[in-house]
Amino acid sequence: MILLLGGTGEARALAEELVRDGIEVESSLAGRVARPRLPVGPVRIGGFGGIAGLRAYLRDREVTAVVDATHPFAAGISRNAVAACTAEGVPLLRLERPGWADAPGADGWHWADDLDAAARTAAALGERPFLTVGRQGLGHFVEPLAEHAAAVRVVDPPDVEIPDAWTLLLSRGPYTADGERALMAEHRVDVVVTKDSGGSLTWPKLEVAGELGLPVVIVRRHPATDAVETVSDPAAATAWLHAQPWER
Ligand code: NAP
Repeated sequence: MILLLGGTGEARALAEELVRDGIEVESSLAGRVARPRLPVGPVRIGGFGGIAGLRAYLRDREVTAVVDATHPFAAGISRNAVAACTAEGVPLLRLERPGWADAPGADGWHWADDLDAAARTAAALGERPFLTVGRQGLGHFVEPLAEHAAAVRVVDPPDVEIPDAWTLLLSRGPYTADGERALMAEHRVDVVVTKDSGGSLTWPKLEVAGELGLPVVIVRRHPATDAVETVSDPAAATAWLHAQPWER
């Protein structure tokens, strides 16, 4: 029984591979998105109740391994997975797609250590930022960008009150370069602000920013936990699971 901590396209791809291979798997989602894209196979939704709750789940469900395929910026659940799996002696694999640090143009971007630094840098670089930093991070931008005509793209409406000068765009990727070009022209975007999420689904805005010569402000990832074996694609995660002792 594999617990697959999800909320990413890679997690959905892995769930599909495991179900196809006849491996018992349950995907877990945090429940942040109102209408999540559901993976194939059994799904549970909602927090476990911290490390203690996750440990109880691992015991109750007799979980044989955990794959943490959560978003690169979902740090809390990844820390909890390390602690719970260590305490319960359950093997843990991290599935994390590569970031964009080596992508074309990345060395010319403004790399920020956190959302607050990104907000300050963006405020100084432009008047009309395009914010794609996720709903939960928006609070960090409200004050620094209160007077900026920001185009703010989120999947679900944010919990924080947003400034009158901002335009809220509700949508969910994947996006195309043509669509991003049109959006940036319509909103006369002069700086793009994002996180180093990686992957291809949300890459086109950065391609278009490069084309238009717009500055990019990007929040860097926190360093991965050395202690956790990490792979970067679903096929490698499937191979890791098949190589576990109970599979031999
Ligand atoms: P987080 O800060 O790492 O987690 C906060 C709490 O949410 C965790 O302690 C846990 O609650 C619960 N949680 C998170 N992921 C869970 C999962 N897959 N299954 C069950 N409970 C989960 O996470 P976050 O940044 O709020 O992100 C939440 C989810 O959205 C993640 O699963 C992630 O893959 C997805 N996501 C995040 C981002 C992002 O930028 N942060 C972007 C896209 C998708 P308990 O302590 O009660 O167990």
